[in-house]
Amino acid sequence: MNRRDFTKLSAFALAATGVARGSAMSAQRPVRYAVVGLGSISNIFLQACAKSTNSRVTALVTGHPADKGEALAQQYGIPASSIYTYETFDRIRDNKEVDAVYIGLPNSMHCEYTLRAAAAGKHVLCEKPMAISSDECQIMIDACRKAHVKLMIAYRIHFEPLWNKAIKMIHAGAIGTLQSFHGGFYNQQRAGMWRLNRALAGGGPLLDLGIYPLNAIRHITGEEPSDLTAVVATRDQSGAFSQVEQSMEWTMKMPSGILASCGCSYEQSGPGYLQIHGDTGYLELLPGFNYDGLRLHDNNVRDPLDLASTGRNPYQFTLEADYFSDCIRNDRQPGPDGEEGRQDMLAIEAIYRAAGAPIA
Ligand code: NAD
Repeated sequence: MNRRDFTKLSAFALAATGVARGSAMSAQRPVRYAVVGLGSISNIFLQACAKSTNSRVTALVTGHPADKGEALAQQYGIPASSIYTYETFDRIRDNKEVDAVYIGLPNSMHCEYTLRAAAAGKHVLCEKPMAISSDECQIMIDACRKAHVKLMIAYRIHFEPLWNKAIKMIHAGAIGTLQSFHGGFYNQQRAGMWRLNRALAGGGPLLDLGIYPLNAIRHITGEEPSDLTAVVATRDQSGAFSQVEQSMEWTMKMPSGILASCGCSYEQSGPGYLQIHGDTGYLELLPGFNYDGLRLHDNNVRDPLDLASTGRNPYQFTLEADYFSDCIRNDRQPGPDGEEGRQDMLAIEAIYRAAGAPIA
């Protein structure tokens, strides 16, 4: 963040301090969302809310109000008067039909739009990664706290029933004492996409993909990584990866001695996965991070297990929206919260330092 960006964000943070909200809203009424940024993930969130019992999308924020905005507004029954641009977004403060904001923008814009939403008195569901630095995460947490609005980071995997089954099994001792993890998540990005632009993405595939095994391991162990090693590499020679690395591999040691070895890449094929090794058993989620079709495997010969997730995309997002809306309606603190997002960002910064590679 340069000085001008910081000053701008500080002004939004200051504006957020004047807002007083936080009382439980009617437990009966659906929570009404403004969706900011109408790209691929926001499209899924729109579908998810259409299937939710307690969440509705009632406003859109887009740089293309006349085409993308109007088409989606018509499709989802959103009034044209509730289509905003990035410039008019702050007027959302006066829209009584909006309780919360869903942020589906490039990573470097998450902080600004969280602060502007908080300043408008709206709760915030922000996509992962929470921001592009742990300092930004702290600013977001502080602004939402001061404005008495709730802040949740959209780690959809926390709402996947198959993951929750695996975590329950681990905590019930199904694989004995945890020893180690191996995990990874990969996809392919084309030249020109914002994910390859450092200013917008904040970094490479670790912020976008590696964050899945990282967060899962932190979530399952309840520990923060202590010792780290990491390497980055770019095999592509076209120049597409001139601003962010193509691939990263890292190892972590948790304070208890649990080890983890993980990878992520923008130019490798293969499904995302997490192998979880205990001293008496083994679980694997493969594919582990997809929107649907996940499978849980167990290589214990005595007790074979092979379960598939039963939902179809966008069910993880519907469960996520249902949960956050329920927290808003009943004035409960949501989790994964801003602190969860900040801890991931602290680990990401430490991994980049271990690789000797730059971050934002
Ligand atoms: P996308 O490129 O499909 O959409 C981004 C949106 O932001 C577009 O509507 C674009 O018009 C808008 N935008 C506004 N200003 C922009 C700018 N300066 N440059 C580029 N786009 C701009 O991206 P996406 O895949 O929807 O990702 C958005 C966010 O959601 C990211 O933070 C990403 O990490 C996250 N995400 C989360 C998941 C998940 O499973 N939870 C999956 C994909 C993406």
